[in-house]
Amino acid sequence: MGFFSKDIKTLDDLFVHTLQDIYYAEKQIAKALPKMIDKATDPALKAGFEKHLSETKGHIERVEQVFEMHGVEAKGVDCPAIDGILEEADEVSGDIDDKRVLDAGLIASAQAVEHYEMTRYGTLIAWAKQLGRNDCASVLKQNLDEEKATDKKLTEMAESKVNLQAAE
Ligand code: FE
Ligand code: FE
Repeated sequence: MGFFSKDIKTLDDLFVHTLQDIYYAEKQIAKALPKMIDKATDPALKAGFEKHLSETKGHIERVEQVFEMHGVEAKGVDCPAIDGILEEADEVSGDIDDKRVLDAGLIASAQAVEHYEMTRYGTLIAWAKQLGRNDCASVLKQNLDEEKATDKKLTEMAESKVNLQAAE
């Protein structure tokens, strides 16, 4: 986006810009997840992060597929929102000594990431449909469904075990 000209003129432009935003975000998430895998102690949480890392690589590929279907070059645009969420995740986890409390913190940070992704994909799907691109919407929906499933699983892990262990 330029400072002196308004580069986003149409809903289609905004759709492409937001696709670039989530493309950048997914790549940053793929870089951050290995650190979270290293820090996690609970085996189920570690495995969950590992699974989501491989899903995230698939998300990047699906977003690339949508760029191609829409006839635009696949490229990212800086997303200070995800940078901030990941930075905060890193800072908070660096401040926690107790491994059980750290697991609870990692889940909270991961859920902030998933919710960010969910808002982006929700918006992209609605705009794709409005633009007559149901084909793009259905590819993006596959990513959204995996983010939602991950978020749900994280809630279950936190409420059934990790929060309890953190409180002991
Ligand atoms: Fe994702
Ligand atoms: Fe995700």
